[in-house]
Amino acid sequence: MRILITNDDGIYSPGILALARAAQRFGQVRIVAPDVEMSSAGHSITSSRPLTYKRTPIAGFEAYRVNGTPADCVALGTHNWEKVDLVLSGINLGSNLGNAIWHSGTLAAARQAVLFGLRGIALSTPVTQEEPDFQALLPAVQDVLEMLVNTDVQLMNVNFPSHPPQGVRWTCQSVRHYDGEVVSGKDPMGRSHFWFVVKPIEGTDPDSDRWAVEHGYTSVTPLRIDLTDERLRSARSQPPIES
Ligand code: MN
Repeated sequence: MRILITNDDGIYSPGILALARAAQRFGQVRIVAPDVEMSSAGHSITSSRPLTYKRTPIAGFEAYRVNGTPADCVALGTHNWEKVDLVLSGINLGSNLGNAIWHSGTLAAARQAVLFGLRGIALSTPVTQEEPDFQALLPAVQDVLEMLVNTDVQLMNVNFPSHPPQGVRWTCQSVRHYDGEVVSGKDPMGRSHFWFVVKPIEGTDPDSDRWAVEHGYTSVTPLRIDLTDERLRSARSQPPIES
């Protein structure tokens, strides 16, 4: 099995090396990731300038850095390495829960894999003041990969808690609250500036991704590409198209 590893934190993130190490027992691993951090890049692609693909071995892994987005990395990675079976994205330094799925470059890379007809799994863990302890997390990462790699899972969002988990919960995306807000301030020259930041959400829906991570579980959320609201569509009557 060929496993392409990417992320949105950049190729030198400790999370990507941790994921490559966890994944190597499942197949042949190659890293293709952005040359700088692209967190919150979402599913953007680079269409107005050329991309480069430069060899950058990392801790014994075959690796390449791309001057583009996470989705670009999946495109170039699968173009330059045929017959990739699975794309793993992460391990992101920061949870990707609820509405963060819209902004996340980590998730977008996994989704780009599915758009190419491959399978994609995004993996994230919270960051507090300290860097995540990836060594302590390794058994949990391997357990999740064991559970998901050899299945027909198409697109999956995995979030680990900050400490070794007490188990796995199959969850839904938490969308009851939105966690984005604008905070304004002044720069040292007295000029106004703004930060679009994430604020903590209190009170979570049971069964949601956020609840699971807050309660010490690994959250596993199956996602889909088709965003059609079938409930609304089926409520409209329209004549069939004649062929
Ligand atoms: Mn990130």
